[in-house]
Amino acid sequence: MNWDPVLMSGRAAGEPGLLRNFVGGEFLPAGKTFAKASPVTGETVFEVAEADAATVDAAVTAARAALRGPWGRMGERERAEVLRRVADELERRFDDLVTAEVADTGKSISQARTLDIPRGAANFRAFAEIVATAPTESFTTVTPTGGRALNYAVRKPVGVVAVVVPWNLPLLLLTWKVAPALACGNAVVVKPSEETPASATLLAEVMAAAGVPDGVFNLVHGFGPDSAGEFLTRHPGVDAITFTGESSTGSTIMRAAADGVKAVSFELGGKNAGLVFADADLDAAVAGSVRSSFTNGGQVCLCTERIYVQRPVFEEFADRLARRATELPFGWPADEATVNMPLISHPHRRKVLGYYDLARDEGAEVLAGGGVPVFGDLRDGGAYVQPTVLVGLGPDARTNTEEIFGPVVHLAPFDDEEEAYALANGTEYGLAAAVWTRDVGRAHRAGARLDAGIVWVNTWFLRDLRTPFGGVKASGIGREGGVHSLDFYSELTNVCVDLG
Ligand code: NAD
Repeated sequence: MNWDPVLMSGRAAGEPGLLRNFVGGEFLPAGKTFAKASPVTGETVFEVAEADAATVDAAVTAARAALRGPWGRMGERERAEVLRRVADELERRFDDLVTAEVADTGKSISQARTLDIPRGAANFRAFAEIVATAPTESFTTVTPTGGRALNYAVRKPVGVVAVVVPWNLPLLLLTWKVAPALACGNAVVVKPSEETPASATLLAEVMAAAGVPDGVFNLVHGFGPDSAGEFLTRHPGVDAITFTGESSTGSTIMRAAADGVKAVSFELGGKNAGLVFADADLDAAVAGSVRSSFTNGGQVCLCTERIYVQRPVFEEFADRLARRATELPFGWPADEATVNMPLISHPHRRKVLGYYDLARDEGAEVLAGGGVPVFGDLRDGGAYVQPTVLVGLGPDARTNTEEIFGPVVHLAPFDDEEEAYALANGTEYGLAAAVWTRDVGRAHRAGARLDAGIVWVNTWFLRDLRTPFGGVKASGIGREGGVHSLDFYSELTNVCVDLG
C-alpha cells in the first residue's frame, strides 16, 4: 500500500488505505472490514480487514506448519541472523513505520522517530544477542552405584505463541514480544489493537522482506470479544499466550487459557506513584515528573498518575508542575516541537473526561487543564484533552486508585518515608514507581519497599532490555526482558545421561 504521510500536518485525508491479514507468508483478500479513525481529526485513515474464526484458524495452522519446516530445524545463531535482518529491514522502512505509527496514534513525529521505531528495531538486535549467548545449566550427579550421570538442559520452542497487544506504543510493545518469541524458535500469530493496525501490517512486510520463512509470523486484525482476539486466545492450537493490556482483559484471557492449561505472560495496567523527597534535586524531579505524567498523552502503562511530595517542597513542586503542564505545546504531529498528542479515540477520551469530572465531584482542585483544547481547525474533530494536574483528594478516592490512562496526575503531600511507601503501595496495582531523592540509603530502601516490578530512582522510562520487566499484584504475571523472556518463550528439557 501507499504509506504517504497521512493527516500529519493538516492536509485532508486521501482515500483510506486497506490493511489486510497476513497468513502463511501472504496478505489475504480483505472480506469484512472496519474503519480506523485518526485520533488527530477523527477522519478514517484505514480500512482494516477483520479476521473471522476461519482466518484465525488458518493463521494458527500456518504457524504450526512452519514449526515443522526449515524454521524448526534452525539453530540459535541462524535465527539470531534472521532477527538482525529484520532489524536492518525495519531501519530501511524507518520513514514508512514513522508515518504508520503517527497515522494510527496521532503521536508526534519526533517521538515516533526517537522512541517508538528505534526501540522496535533495538528489540530484534537485543534478542539476537541474548539468545545467541544465553547459557543453560549442567550438573554432574553421583549415582547410587558410585558412577556419574551428566545432566544438561536443552532450550526448545514452546510452539505457536499468540501475541495480543495494545495501542499505546504499538510497534515497540509488539516487537518486545515477537523478537524473543522468534529468537527462541517459535511461530507467532499476532493480534494488534484494533486502534493501531498499521505498523503491525508493515512489520508483516518487513518479515517477508527479511526472509523470515512463511508461517513463522502471522497477523490477524480485529477486536477482542467475539472477534480475532477471542478466537485466537481460545484456539486449541495455541501453546502460549503473551498479552499486554488492561488487567480486566488479562483476567478474561486467563479464563480462556485455563481450558488448554496454556502458559500466560501478562503485562497489565498500573496506577503508578511518584515520590518526591524534600532532599531531591527539584529541577530534575519537576522535569522528570512532567515526562512521567504526560509522555505519550499519559498513555504509557508506566506513567505516574499519583505523585506524593514531601511537605516542605509540596507547594513549590505543585506550582512548577502545574505551570509546565499548561506550557506543553500542542501542534500537528509533523511539528518537531509538538509534545501533547491526542488520546487514541473518542471512546477513550470520554473515559478520561469522565475521570476529570469524577475528580471534581470527589472534591479535587484543578491546578492545570481539566478540559478539552480548542484549535479552530480539523483537530477539533480529534480526541485531544488538556494535560491536567489535580490536588486535594485522599488516597482512597477513585481518582487515586483507578487507572485513567490519560495526561493527568494527582499531587498530595506526605511527611515521612514510611507514610510515602504506604501511600505508594496503596492500590491494587504494582507496575512501576519513580523516586526522587539524593539520599543513597533511601534510594535503595525504596527499591526494596515499593510494591512494583520496576523502581526508578532519579529517572523514569530508562530501560535496559536485559533487565526483568513486569508487574506485581494486578499489574501482571511473569517477567519479560533478557533471559526472562527466553524462560517464557522456551521450554527447558533436562537430558540425564548415565556415564556408566
Ligand atoms: P485492552 O486490554 O483493551 O486491549 C489490549 C488488546 O487485547 C487489544 O489487542 C484488544 O483487541 C485485545 N482484547 C480485548 N479484549 C479481548 C478478549 N476478550 N480476548 C482477547 N483479546 C482481547 O487494552 P488497551 O486499551 O488496548 O491498552 C491499554 C491498557 O494496556 C492499559 O491498561 C495499560 O496500562 C496497559 N498496558 C500495560 C503495559 C505493561 O507493560 N504492563 C504496557 C502497555 C499498556
